[in-house]
Amino acid sequence: MEEIIPHWLNKQASLAPSQVAIEELDGSTLTFLQLQKESSTYARKLASWGITEGSHVGILSTNCKEMVIAIHALSYLGAVAVLLNTRLTIAELNFQLTDAEVSFLLTEQDKFDQAKELQVENYKAFSALTAFPERNIELVKEIKLNKVFTIIYTSGTTGHPKGVIHTYGNHWWSAIGSALNLGINPADKWLAALPIFHVSGLSILIRSVVYGMSVFLLNKFDAAAVHDAIMNRNVTMVSVVTIMLQQLLNFHQDDTYPKSFRCMLLGGGPAPKPLLQQARDRNIPVFQSFGMTETASQIVTLSAKDALQKVGSAGKPLLPAQLKINNPNEQSIGEIYVKGPMITKGYYKNNYATENAFIDGWLATGDLGYLDSEDFLYVVDRRTDLIISGGENIYPSELESVLTGMKQIKEIAVIGMKDSTWGEVPVAFIVTEDELLNAEEVLAYAESHLAKYKLPREIIFVKELPRNASNKIVRKDLYSYLPGKEE
Ligand code: ATP
Ligand code: MG
Repeated sequence: MEEIIPHWLNKQASLAPSQVAIEELDGSTLTFLQLQKESSTYARKLASWGITEGSHVGILSTNCKEMVIAIHALSYLGAVAVLLNTRLTIAELNFQLTDAEVSFLLTEQDKFDQAKELQVENYKAFSALTAFPERNIELVKEIKLNKVFTIIYTSGTTGHPKGVIHTYGNHWWSAIGSALNLGINPADKWLAALPIFHVSGLSILIRSVVYGMSVFLLNKFDAAAVHDAIMNRNVTMVSVVTIMLQQLLNFHQDDTYPKSFRCMLLGGGPAPKPLLQQARDRNIPVFQSFGMTETASQIVTLSAKDALQKVGSAGKPLLPAQLKINNPNEQSIGEIYVKGPMITKGYYKNNYATENAFIDGWLATGDLGYLDSEDFLYVVDRRTDLIISGGENIYPSELESVLTGMKQIKEIAVIGMKDSTWGEVPVAFIVTEDELLNAEEVLAYAESHLAKYKLPREIIFVKELPRNASNKIVRKDLYSYLPGKEE
C-alpha cells in the first residue's frame, strides 16, 4: 500500500497559519500561511517556465528565503530538487548537473553569471521568475512518501561525489527520528547556518514543516551572528559542524547562553575530545551525532540526558533506526552498519555504488566504530584511512584529536605513508600560526599522550590543508605533498 500524507506545508498553513516559519537576520519573517502562498504562486510560475512532475531542477544558492520558497514550490509540482554546493568549481558542477540529468537551473542573483558557463539547457535567477505568468494547474496536495524529492551529492571526501536520492519518506522519517530524541518544544526556533544544499541544512527546513517550527535563517555561518542569535533572538537549537563549534567557543568566552537554548547539534565529521570537554565546561549543550548524506542527516545522536556523561560518543541510533558493528576486531572496532527508513534507496544511476553500499538491507557506512558496554557509538575513523603499521591498527583521527590538544596546532591531518619495515607509518601535516613551533616539540607532546607505535614518523608543516567544497579535509590529496613518495 502506498503511504500518503497531506502536503506538509499546506498542513502547517492550516494548523499554524500565523506561526513564523522563516525569520531572517534583518528581522523580516514569513508565517506558514505566507510561505505556503508564496511557494504555491512560485510553483505556478515555475510551471509556466516548463517545469513539470519529475523534472530535475538544480538549485545553486546560499541560504535565502527565495531558496526555501523554490524548494517547497518544487514539491508542489512533484519535481526533483538537485541541491548544488555553491563552492564547487564549474567542472565539478557540470559533472553533477550532467550526472543528475538536470534540465532546469535556478540560482541566486550572485551565481547567475556562473550559470552561464554551466551545461544546463534552461537557467534563471530566482527573481527572474516573478515576471512569469502563473500557470493554472493543480498543485500537489498529497505527498507520496516513496516519491523522490531531492538529489544531493556526497561531499567527495573519499572519491567522486555520488548522487544520493532522497524520497519524501526519507526526509519525513529523519524529522520524526530527530523529534523523538530531541523532543519538540512550542518555543523552539532552529538556527540554520549550515547550507541548505547540504542535507544537514535542508533537514532543518523539513523539521520546520513537519513540526510547525520556526527557522532562523542565516545566509552563511558567522560566529558573531550565531552568537548574537543565541544570546538575543530566542534561538533554542542550532546545527553546527566542528569548525563552527570551535569558532563559537572562542567567541565572547565569558557569555553564558540563555537557559532556553537547549541543543547544539554537532555532526558531519569527527570532533576532537578537548573541544567537546571545553563545551561541557561551559555548560553548552552539545549533542554529538553521526550521519551521512545517505542517511538524510543524523541517524545516531546523543540524548539530553547522556550528553554530559558520554562526551566523545555519537550516541545511539534514533528510534526508527538500527545499528550494528560488522565484523568487529579484538578491540571491538568494525564497520558501522545502519538500517532505517531515513536511509536512501541508492545513488542516482549508479547501481555499482548502490550494490556495494547495501548488504542484506543494511547500509555499510565505510566508517569504523565501536559500541561501549551501554551500546553508545564511538566513531573511530573512515575504513579507507586506517593505517596498519607493523600489524597494529592506527586511526588517524585519534592522533589528530590528541594533537589538537596542543594549543599551537591550528589544524592537523594524519595519513599513512608506505614504509619498508612497518608497512605503513603515520605522517602528520600541521598548520600553525606559531613560527617557533617545531617538529621536536610536537613529537614530545605526542610521546606523552600516545603509545610509541602510533607516533608520527614525520611532521610536515604546511600553510593549509586540502579541503573539498564541503570544507572537509581530503586526506587522500595529502599524498601528493609527500615528495617522491607514492600512495
Ligand atoms: P564521500 O562519501 O563522497 O566520500 P563524505 O562521506 O564526506 O563524502 P558526507 O555524506 O557529507 O560525505 O559525510 C558523511 C561522513 O562524515 C560519514 O561517513 C563520516 O565519515 C563523517 N562523519 C559524520 N558524522 C561523524 C562523526 N560524528 N564522527 C566522525 N565522522 C563523522
Ligand atoms: Mg560518504
